[in-house]
Amino acid sequence: MMNPSPTIGVLALQGDFAEHAAMLARLGATVREVRLPEELEGLDGLVLPGGESTTIGKLATDYGLIEPLRQFGQSKAIYGTCAGAIFLSKDAERSQPLLGIMDITVERNAYGRQVESFDVQVPVPALNGLAAGDPPVRAVFIRAPLIKSVSGEATSLASLPDGRIIAAQQGKLLATAFHPEISGDDRFHRYFLKLAES
Ligand code: GLN
Repeated sequence: MMNPSPTIGVLALQGDFAEHAAMLARLGATVREVRLPEELEGLDGLVLPGGESTTIGKLATDYGLIEPLRQFGQSKAIYGTCAGAIFLSKDAERSQPLLGIMDITVERNAYGRQVESFDVQVPVPALNGLAAGDPPVRAVFIRAPLIKSVSGEATSLASLPDGRIIAAQQGKLLATAFHPEISGDDRFHRYFLKLAES
């Protein structure tokens, strides 16, 4: 049975958690901000927002959230955008606190200093059926990471025309290098809600 109103947490330590919360609420989810380990209780899923992954990792360490978040990801859905995707990864090719629960290697700020922000239209077959005509997703990149590789159970969901991976999934774990929460396209969030309900 589909739960009509999943309860979704948004990690609210730093970054654009308010945009995620607004989009999830519009989609009918019950949304809770998460700053403490006990606030993970009762959630069907959790969003890790964009922001600064080093700051999010440092604050998560200070708040005692690293192990509880890893445990949460063993059975529950987690969606990381941009900095959140970095935080999910097992390898960011430098030393910073990571959850390390998703078999992706990322390179931070991979798109160069001049082009700190850009957007592209990308087809995402996994989202087919979520919008009439299945238009491409407008992917907004803001000092975005590159998903350099996926391994193990992780698979690529979308890539740029040159093959660079920009979205990946591993079971109920979802990562996008870009920010659907600010483009107004809610298909990734609806896809995530289905994962959280499954
Ligand atoms: N550049 C940031 C980082 O490396 C991510 C940027 C973002 O989340 N928009 O953590």
